[in-house]
Amino acid sequence: SSRYLNDFEELKPLGHGGFGHVVLCKNKLDGRHYAVKKIRLKDKILPVNDRILREVATLSRLQHQHVVRYYQAWYESGVSDSYGEAAWGSMTPLSSTFSYKGASATDAEHENKTESTYLYIQMEYCPRTLRQDFESYTRFDKELAWHLFHQIVEGLAHIHGQGIIHRDLTPSNIFFDARNDIKIGDFGLAKFLKLEQLDQDVGVPLDTTGVSIDGTGQVGTYFYTAPEIEQGWPKIDEKADMYSLGIVFFELWHPFATAMERHLVLSDLKQKGELPTVWVAEFSEQASLLRRLMSQSPSERPSASELLQHAFPPRMEYQLLDKQPPSAI
Ligand code: ATP
Ligand code: MG
Ligand code: MG
Repeated sequence: SSRYLNDFEELKPLGHGGFGHVVLCKNKLDGRHYAVKKIRLKDKILPVNDRILREVATLSRLQHQHVVRYYQAWYESGVSDSYGEAAWGSMTPLSSTFSYKGASATDAEHENKTESTYLYIQMEYCPRTLRQDFESYTRFDKELAWHLFHQIVEGLAHIHGQGIIHRDLTPSNIFFDARNDIKIGDFGLAKFLKLEQLDQDVGVPLDTTGVSIDGTGQVGTYFYTAPEIEQGWPKIDEKADMYSLGIVFFELWHPFATAMERHLVLSDLKQKGELPTVWVAEFSEQASLLRRLMSQSPSERPSASELLQHAFPPRMEYQLLDKQPPSAI
């Protein structure tokens, strides 16, 4: 029998990415909502499975109040019907310790062409992304901008403390939970520092430009991608995320009135390192932090833990409002 069908009621699709669908589900036992990612493992190509297992392994190591909570993952195998949906077969639980060797076990299950294996990942459901807030032209007051940035930096410090680089930190992958707290999620491209040091071949192949088109047909990640990733440096460290964080920080302090304005301003920032003069005059402190985060040399960028120690205004009101964040204007 299928654990997924037994334990979950599907409520609505949340979207899909390169590897599978994400569905809002209700757990029949605890009555709570979860985002369940369903990934069909039909390919026998090892790097594909490798990337998926990397995502699962990454999630299982992260437990933090500002990182999307991971609950469990399991495999189910079944026979595909004409719609590409599963007819449910036997269930194969994942071992508690995820390893890259797991990929060969799943490959063995692919001997029969009509059988597909599905990987399910049960995650905390996050109803909104920061991207949606940016696109609704929300203006963030000063306290809210610092509050959100502080939560993002706390989550990132935990991620980096685990030796993990996110590599795809964008407003689309920064979620809000039901309490309006920040949750960093979507570790599809995350990569372990140690593995990178041991064996470059384990790495995720990147396209040469770092450009990708998201579901809305817009360039999703280009503005946020660190120059060393675009240039294909052999060794990427966690400072790549600090570059991306800088652009997110800028957007918190510089709301855009139109998509065109956003495109023009972020293009100038990316290509020429130019900031709007009027903005710099008003937010000189933020501008100097942003310039440090956007340093071409990764080592010149501050780390997340350094930011937590030095970058925030002391005793800001937002820190006292932790249980009840200030609302947007
Ligand atoms: P890519 O394949 O490049 O990672 P993606 O990030 O759009 O693309 P997924 O990570 O599969 O693809 O996510 C698919 C959709 O599900 C996205 O719209 C994302 O916002 C949504 N989503 C992912 N995780 C959650 C979650 N925990 N709660 C709510 N929605 C989520
Ligand atoms: Mg995403
Ligand atoms: Mg993704």
